[in-house]
Amino acid sequence: MSQQETDGRIGVDDEGFLVDTEDCEEREAAYRERGTSRPITVVGNPVLHKECKDVTAFDDELARLIDDMFASQKTAEGVGLAANQIGVDLKVFVYDCPDDDGVRHTGVICNPVLEELAPEARVLDDSNEGCLSVPTAYASLARPDYAVVRGQDAQGNPVKVRGSGYFARCLQHETDHLYGYLYIDRLSKRERKDALRQMDEGTPRYEVVPNA
Ligand code: ZN
Repeated sequence: MSQQETDGRIGVDDEGFLVDTEDCEEREAAYRERGTSRPITVVGNPVLHKECKDVTAFDDELARLIDDMFASQKTAEGVGLAANQIGVDLKVFVYDCPDDDGVRHTGVICNPVLEELAPEARVLDDSNEGCLSVPTAYASLARPDYAVVRGQDAQGNPVKVRGSGYFARCLQHETDHLYGYLYIDRLSKRERKDALRQMDEGTPRYEVVPNA
C-alpha cells in the first residue's frame, strides 16, 4: 500500500521497493507545475563527462531542483533526466517511464547505485536508445533487461527501485549519466561516430545549452 503525501513521498512494497506506479499523472504534474524548465546540456559539456557530487543536503533547494528537472523532462519529452543534463553537478535523476508491460513509473532517486546482477539473471536486451543530451540520435545498445537501483529519496530515506524492459534501460541510462557516462560511450567507435553524425544533422526540438 502506498500513501501519497503532499511532498511527493511515496510508499514501499513488501520487498522494500518504491511504489512508483501509483498516481503518476498527479505526482508528475505537481512537480512540473512548481518547477521551471531549463535548457539541456549536450555531449561535449564537461558537466556530462565526470562523476557528479553526492547529494548530502536533502533540503528545499534539492526539492526545487527536482521540480525543475520534472519541468525540463516534460518540455524535452524525455522519459528520464539526470541533474547534469540541466547543468547541475549532483547525483539525482528523475524518471517518468513506461516498462514493457505498459506500466508507467514516476519517481526520483538521489545517489543511485546500480545493483550487480547474478549472471543467471543477466539477460541482454538489444533495443534502440536515445538521449536528450545527444539530440536526434539513436543507436541500438544491448543492456540487461532488468535493473535494481539503490539510493535515497528527496528526504534522504534509503530506497530501491526495480525495473524491467525499457524502464530497466532508463534506470541504467540515468545512473550512467551521474557517473559521467553517456550511452554513446558504450557504443563501438563506428556506432558512436554515427550517433554524433545523426546529432550534427538533426535539430533538437527543445532548447539546449550551447557548448563553449
Ligand atoms: Zn540521457
